[in-house]
Amino acid sequence: MRIGFGYDVHQLVEGTPLTLGGIVIAHHRGTLGHSDGDTLIHAICDALLGAANLGDIGLHFPDSDPSLKGIDSKILLKKVLQLTTQKGYAIVNIDATVCLQQPMLRPHIPQMKEVLAKTMLITTDKISIKATTTEKLGFTGRQEGVSAYAVVLLQKI
Ligand code: MG
Repeated sequence: MRIGFGYDVHQLVEGTPLTLGGIVIAHHRGTLGHSDGDTLIHAICDALLGAANLGDIGLHFPDSDPSLKGIDSKILLKKVLQLTTQKGYAIVNIDATVCLQQPMLRPHIPQMKEVLAKTMLITTDKISIKATTTEKLGFTGRQEGVSAYAVVLLQKI
């Protein structure tokens, strides 16, 4: 068994889609990034890579790579999963927390779990997604950004 941890932040700006957990959520501010800025998926990718000791997301998908511009982060997640599978590991479970002041994520969590479970070919029982605000404190509280934390447990196949 191996544990991994991931953390990611993206800026929120007016007029771009708010992409989190593989879905687009209707909101006037969205995630800015070289990819679609899916902060939750990026945290999960880093946790998977960390558990398998395979570096980090920036190593595998540098933001200097023009072919990754605007890429759907679900594609990155699939690639990361290929790497961990190649190294001989399968997911036991994932636990993640997204920090966002607005909008409220709770109503969207079941759909995020469905989409991410499907992307990773696991059951929804293996992925927990939680949401919290930061009580209006810091960059998250000022709605300047979104952050996400994830831990992953892998087991040798
Ligand atoms: Mg990122």
